[in-house]
Amino acid sequence: MKQKKFILEEKDLPTQWYNIQADMVHKPGLPLNPATRQPLSAEDLSHIFAYECSKQELDQEHAWIDIPEEVQEKYRFYRSTPLVRAYELEKALDTPAHIYFKNESVNPLGSHKINSALPQCYYCKQEGTTNVTTETGAGQWGAALSYAAKVYGLECAVYQVKLTMQQKPYRSLIMRTFGASVEGSPSMSTRAGKDILTKDPTHSGSLGTAISEAIELATTTPNCKYTLGSVLNHVSLHQTVIGLEAEKQMEMAGEYPDKVIACFGGGSNFGGIAFPFMRHNILEGRKTEFIAAEPNSCPKLTRGTFAYDFGDEAGYTPLLPMFTLGHGFKPSNIHAGGLRYHGAGVIVSQLIKDGLMQGVDIPQLETFEAGTLFARTEGIIPAPESCHAIAATIREALKCKEEGTSKVLLFNLSGHGLIDMPSYDSFISGDLCNYTVTDQEIQSYLTDLPK
Ligand SMILES: *Cc1c(COP(=O)(O)O)cnc(C)c1O
Repeated sequence: MKQKKFILEEKDLPTQWYNIQADMVHKPGLPLNPATRQPLSAEDLSHIFAYECSKQELDQEHAWIDIPEEVQEKYRFYRSTPLVRAYELEKALDTPAHIYFKNESVNPLGSHKINSALPQCYYCKQEGTTNVTTETGAGQWGAALSYAAKVYGLECAVYQVKLTMQQKPYRSLIMRTFGASVEGSPSMSTRAGKDILTKDPTHSGSLGTAISEAIELATTTPNCKYTLGSVLNHVSLHQTVIGLEAEKQMEMAGEYPDKVIACFGGGSNFGGIAFPFMRHNILEGRKTEFIAAEPNSCPKLTRGTFAYDFGDEAGYTPLLPMFTLGHGFKPSNIHAGGLRYHGAGVIVSQLIKDGLMQGVDIPQLETFEAGTLFARTEGIIPAPESCHAIAATIREALKCKEEGTSKVLLFNLSGHGLIDMPSYDSFISGDLCNYTVTDQEIQSYLTDLPK
């Protein structure tokens, strides 16, 4: 009988995260203080973030970083996640490709975000922090952080993008069930929110506006740290448990991927599955291809500019060297809320410059067509974000069919879509559309880049 699912025994779970920065030939650029343009130290960053996370952010030396015992113990509640061979999808596509997916949707929080929420809250607790705050787009990060905060006895306040709060009301309820306080962004409770609403009273919010508000709360509240669910190096670091497990599981399946694919918001689930495999390209000259799938309405990887830019709308964050559409970029109201972010993490940005990976942009309707086919074949309803990875994988599988070659494709299923059913409702009723963005629009936001 064909084996469909591969699971690791507890004794084979990773005890260290993989830090690709240490192995990169061209190191990613450092975050700069926006006022002085000087590189920031871990001490500087720790005004906003946990100190241990700040150190991990800048660590370009240690390839392997120990996962604290207490975090390993919590990981064991839901890891390993299954590696699955998508036989039914292969059959439906009539492709010679072997398609595997790593199923990060099976933990009770429903996405990969919990992999970083747990260590971030653990470090905050260790360092004497009592409150954490954050932004959330679609709500997966907010939900994961709300739960992780409870695990370590921290208070949690979340700014959720106003648009997704309306699109996905259940996610705010999930966060409040875990005991977090939730506010729609832009809000009138911070200076940043007031400024944004004064300029544009109908602003439906973005990850950029919510980050500004959360950072403002963190810097004006005693014993409060800001946490981020994507973009930053330490977040991708924590997510490498995905790829480290997948490497062993692919071995159990007797295969090695020719292409590794993930959807791309800020880069954490992409880095999580890709970096452990990419180390073999860097160190041993393997030729695996890495594909990051972004919405064509928010195309920073394929059409953005490489520049120092802010991570948020109000300009509170350090300046980061990244592919960006400009920190004021207003993405269309697509349903993949977690992918509506203007910039890419600095590691990924450097990897693109070095030709170690590539971006691909996909229209909204194609992503839901892919997600629906996946649901009907594999029985899992994917998150709208994950549908981008599925669509990119299907494109590759159909290429294999055309060329008559059999490649091994591995994608990350970053989350399930059970809280996103209104999006599927719109798709099935024919109410969804594609959004495009013109070069002119992109240019207009880039004029705001810090000089
Ligand atoms: C947040 C999220 C993403 C996008 O964030 P990355 O940091 O790019 O991974 C993708 N999928 C799901 C399910 C998410 O919750």
